[in-house]
Amino acid sequence: MAKGYLAHKERLEEISGFGKGIGKRAGFACEWCGSKEDLRVWDQQPDLAPGMETLALLCQRCPGAGSLQGVMGSGGD
Ligand SMILES: [Zn+2]
Repeated sequence: MAKGYLAHKERLEEISGFGKGIGKRAGFACEWCGSKEDLRVWDQQPDLAPGMETLALLCQRCPGAGSLQGVMGSGGD
């Protein structure tokens, strides 16, 4: 359990390191609909190592029912 938690935490830290690059790539807007509200970096491939290819900057509406996991806010709330 503790190991899983640590792995999760390390993953989040790794993902947050990509946050700026993802934001720049997306132009600080949702990569699906272009919204600039409630943007978060979403982990699209939780089974793979996090990277620019597997992360996306999306608003909170786009991922719908939550098959994707939001890992960080970019706007402060
Ligand atoms: Zn969107």
